[in-house]
Amino acid sequence: MPAYIIDPSPIAAAPIKGSDKVFPVRRIYCIGRNYAAHAIEMGHDPNREPPFFFQKNPNNIDFSGTFPYPSQTKDVHHEIELVVALSKGGTSIPIAKALDHVWGYAVGLDMTRRDLQGIAKEMGRPWEIGKAFEKSAPMGPFVPAAQIGHPAAGKVELKVNGKVKQTGDLNQMIWKVPEMISYLSDYFELAAGDVIMTGTPSGVAAVVAGDTMEAAIDGVGTLTVKVV
Ligand code: MN
Repeated sequence: MPAYIIDPSPIAAAPIKGSDKVFPVRRIYCIGRNYAAHAIEMGHDPNREPPFFFQKNPNNIDFSGTFPYPSQTKDVHHEIELVVALSKGGTSIPIAKALDHVWGYAVGLDMTRRDLQGIAKEMGRPWEIGKAFEKSAPMGPFVPAAQIGHPAAGKVELKVNGKVKQTGDLNQMIWKVPEMISYLSDYFELAAGDVIMTGTPSGVAAVVAGDTMEAAIDGVGTLTVKVV
């Protein structure tokens, strides 16, 4: 193999709870409007229309516990989400086999420059400017399914400065984890290291510097992130 002409970027990787090893992240797929109450709060029909996805960059993940208030926005929102990490990929994965591809789970935040996303929506432009910026995906340590199973129900809660802002249950997802994997695999070749952010319940709202976000998903874990 030829030598790189410049140093390649490091592979983005997630810490694993109770392990010295890390999980290498290849791609980050994010589903939009996957909880009915959140679809309604964003002004959309909560009926089961086909799912849609956008992507964040693998190196947007961050495990530092701090979220630097990003540039070019005055309206950054929190979105608590269950994160799914794949250990196998493929195409045309049947729903019944989809969970065989899951290595584990984490608690994550799909931080969103809502004002920029809103402009992109109005103009029919892509969402990256609102979604795929530096440190836009704070996450907690990844936890293997071998330890916690495949959580299909459980409370999802996000507090800001001790006050509950978002609350829901994993069982309220419009598209379930196996369905998302199967659907994505019809359009993309999934691979080991791919990560899916599975959507957020209602209650998304702005944060400001100094706020502390406490995210928790029953059976998966917790994540505390301070906005700086
Ligand atoms: Mn989201």
